[in-house]
Amino acid sequence: MATAQSFRTHTCGELRPEHVGQRVTLAGWVHRRRDHGHLSFFDLRDRYGITQVVTSADEAPAAHQAAAESRNEWVIQVSGAVRHRPEGTTNVELPTGEVEVAVDELTVLNESKVPPFYVNEEQPGLEEALRLQYRYLDLRRPPMRERMLLRARLASAVRRELERDDFVEIETPLLIRSTPEGARDFVVPARLQPGNFYALPQSPQQLKQLLMVAGYDRYYQMAHCMRDEDSRKDRGPEFTQVDIEMSFVREEDVIATVEAMVIAVSREVVPDRPIQEAPFPRLTYEEALVRYGSDKPDLRFGMPLCDLREAVTNVEFRVFADALSGGGAVYAIRAPGCASYSRRQLDELTDLARRHGAGGLVHLSVEADGSLRGPAAKFLGGAEASVQAATGAEAGDLLLVVADSDRVAAATALGQLRLEMGDRLGLRDPSVLAYVWVHRFPMFKWDRDLGRWDATHNPFSAPVWEEAEQMEADPGSIHAQQYDLALNGWELGGGSIRIHRRDLLERAFALMGHTIAGMRDQFGALLDALEYGAPPHGGIAIGLERWCALLANQDNIREVTAFPKTQSGSDLMLSAPSPIDDQQLADLHLRVNLED
Ligand code: ASP
Repeated sequence: MATAQSFRTHTCGELRPEHVGQRVTLAGWVHRRRDHGHLSFFDLRDRYGITQVVTSADEAPAAHQAAAESRNEWVIQVSGAVRHRPEGTTNVELPTGEVEVAVDELTVLNESKVPPFYVNEEQPGLEEALRLQYRYLDLRRPPMRERMLLRARLASAVRRELERDDFVEIETPLLIRSTPEGARDFVVPARLQPGNFYALPQSPQQLKQLLMVAGYDRYYQMAHCMRDEDSRKDRGPEFTQVDIEMSFVREEDVIATVEAMVIAVSREVVPDRPIQEAPFPRLTYEEALVRYGSDKPDLRFGMPLCDLREAVTNVEFRVFADALSGGGAVYAIRAPGCASYSRRQLDELTDLARRHGAGGLVHLSVEADGSLRGPAAKFLGGAEASVQAATGAEAGDLLLVVADSDRVAAATALGQLRLEMGDRLGLRDPSVLAYVWVHRFPMFKWDRDLGRWDATHNPFSAPVWEEAEQMEADPGSIHAQQYDLALNGWELGGGSIRIHRRDLLERAFALMGHTIAGMRDQFGALLDALEYGAPPHGGIAIGLERWCALLANQDNIREVTAFPKTQSGSDLMLSAPSPIDDQQLADLHLRVNLED
């Protein structure tokens, strides 16, 4: 057994009835202890599991004495014979639950202070700050351990699948020059070149494209990425991407390759979680937006958005009329059986809609006689039937309607309400994995603040080839060969086919406001490389923590990260970030100015 070492013959997860009669040595942490006077029972824990060990005052007095002095989380080593547990005391919850070790020797390898929280049981309300400060204790807790091991299995399965498919892992440096991914860079001062800074990679985007020019046509890397942006549940300042790039491919090829990998990995790592639909459904961005109000729709349930434009077109209700005449939209969702929602529940939904950018929320309950009830019902005279036909609403249903002169804003706010109603009605089955591709994103969006076009995703993404000629004439109408993979309402990853010709990339950059000199300065290496036989190529990056969090049914990536930062970017265990001393600053030719 590879896990047999000087301190142990077996692990705490290993012993079974077939070991009965063998003398074994185990080492681990005291998980829980029960004293019965002349008998003492310990649950001994290590990474592999828990084994019950017993000391007896009659049979091994010295070991029994040492047991009496041991406390939870002490590290001990025990030796003794494996035996069946007495009739009626087997523990079916534990893989080792049929046996115990009758200890004849117990050595305390190290003591432990009383931990600041329970390691051996869930502690409701346990403060996250305490968990992060003592992360090494938090990581000992079995649920955390399971998640860490899940993450390791996930990463390992990804590697195996990709390598079986001829991908090679190539590491790229952490000290680079910035590649824009829409966030601020973390920078590192270069001591040997005063006044100059490296950027930590927001992603290895340019480097992986350069590897394509170099001929490594199937690259992958577990890439560490750093982005200086505010943390959220699904985003931290540093994270790991399964980063992939391929040559001689079209969108179809990348999607097929990645989908096969994702299916194989999911089946291996979480075999008990059904994949809702394979091949994964594909929606255009437009379809995702108007059906689900999101570019990362949760497809575990229906409740699609309904377009009420036709149904309310003759209605004299200012909210709807203004939205429509302003070029916007009126969208509704139907919440089955929710007609009797209370004032308070409806206020909560209205607040939620407002928080997500809606001016307000119109709610309409469908009465038993088919009429509509709600503050706005009186304005809908004559349109009840068409509204019901458009939404499929029946007696007892609640209609939630958002109108806005910005149709994307209306759809997005209602998309959030859809998720909320999905939660409230228990429609988001926690066991199901609903992967979905979203593609054909607009290539550019108008940035009002900067007064120029900007890439909606990756600035290196190619336009749909047939549309490329229209790029300057009508940037807003061009679509990118960009595809995102979503899972259960989270964006898992995204990628694109890249522009592999210099002239076209320069045109795209120029549209985004780059001067020739600026382009040379920022992207010189990539632009040059495109002139040395760059093959058609494209790729994708999948967020490993997001994927793992979803597979572990967690709603925060910190739960699947060994040593995460807090919301405000602190490492509470190592106390980082921290000031550096004057000498270090001087060596780096830096002065700290906290004034502004
Ligand atoms: N570099 C991109 C990102 O980090 C992914 C890609 O386009 O491959 O989002």
